[in-house]
Amino acid sequence: MLLKIDHLNTSYGALQALFDVSVEIHEGEIVSIIGSNGAGKSTTLNTISGVLLSVSGTIHFRDQAISGASTHHIVESGLVQVPEARRLFPYMSISENLELGSFSSRGRKHKKEMLKKVFKLFPILEKRMNQRAGTLSGGEQQMLAIARGLMAMPRLLMLDEPSLGLAPIIVKQVFDVIKAINRDGIAILLVEQNVTHSLSIANRAYVLENGKVIMEGKGEELLKDSDIKKAYLGI
Ligand code: ATP
Repeated sequence: MLLKIDHLNTSYGALQALFDVSVEIHEGEIVSIIGSNGAGKSTTLNTISGVLLSVSGTIHFRDQAISGASTHHIVESGLVQVPEARRLFPYMSISENLELGSFSSRGRKHKKEMLKKVFKLFPILEKRMNQRAGTLSGGEQQMLAIARGLMAMPRLLMLDEPSLGLAPIIVKQVFDVIKAINRDGIAILLVEQNVTHSLSIANRAYVLENGKVIMEGKGEELLKDSDIKKAYLGI
């Protein structure tokens, strides 16, 4: 087991956002969390990555308890999050943004190797190393955000809404990149509102509603489920 979260409860002050959430990810898997606005998807990722502290519940990554650990420690263990809205440094170059991704000791040690991988996945970034991140298109910025996450050499990469606000053709490219990263041996935890795409590439998926897991199963099975079709695909 790569990641195991058990009975997680997370609150923002008096407002409880997650109720008893349990999720598992095995080596090599792509796991999706789907759900509508405000369901608790980002809260789940932020609790796993240590940005938020849970009220109760446990999180284990490679059999080590990481609940309450610092985000730094969590990144060092190989659990890396690409946040919603990309959070790039717009006035810094592509090269500098990638450099910041390799800040961890894991990343530093494997910088050359990871840069090679990143350029293979995203040839456009190599051509534009000195360009400011803020001048890239939305799709290119998303690619850079994913590339920056890869520079930390993750064992598990968590992606928060990578397709948000992108044109359909670019969305397809983003999902193709996610599959390619996974083929390279990196497990993926994907949070998405694009239900069709994310269930199509997921080995398994969880459906969150009002902070609770209401359904889980294989991606392809959930895609055929009539409740999912009605609630999320408008069919
Ligand atoms: P979205 O796709 O809109 O980001 P989500 O499924 O990721 O939705 P969360 O952002 O995790 O949902 O939000 C879960 C609940 O927590 C919502 O009720 C939201 O209003 C609340 N919430 C999120 N962030 C905060 C915050 N910083 N302070 C207070 N409440 C918050």
